[in-house]
Formats: sequence, C-alpha cells, structure tokens
Amino acid sequence: MARRQGSPTFGHRYVGNKNNMEVHDLDNEKTGQNQCQIDEIIRAGNAVIFTPDTLSQAHSEGYDNCAYCLGSSTR
Ligand SMILES: [Zn+2]
Repeated sequence: MARRQGSPTFGHRYVGNKNNMEVHDLDNEKTGQNQCQIDEIIRAGNAVIFTPDTLSQAHSEGYDNCAYCLGSSTR
C-alpha cells in the first residue's frame, strides 16, 4: 500500500489515528491482519494529517509511533 491521494489524507506521508493516538508512515505501511489498518482508520473517520507532514510534528501533537510501520514506540 502507499500514500492515498484525496480526502482525508491528501497524499501525506504521516497519518494519525485520533482514536488511539498512533501515527503511521504510509511509505512503510504494513497491511497484515491487525497491523496498520489505514483503510479502517479512514473508514472510521479517525484519520488525521499533520502540517508540516513530519514525524516530529505528529509527536508534538501527542501521537505515538505505530509499532509496525515506524517502531520505536515511546509509550
Ligand atoms: Zn502503522
């Protein structure tokens, strides 16, 4: 899988799940069962993007790394 154009992610690399406050790297998305589940996040209306589109911005907004696509969870 890869970045998704159009709403709500607009081709951004990093996408947050506001339901569990985890951030995902769509350039390294893992699509196995119970892994990133980006499409499920989008479908549930929980996808958020960051401005600027950086991991440090996601962290500054309180998001923690997804263990599958980013690793090094800080939580
Ligand atoms: Zn992920």
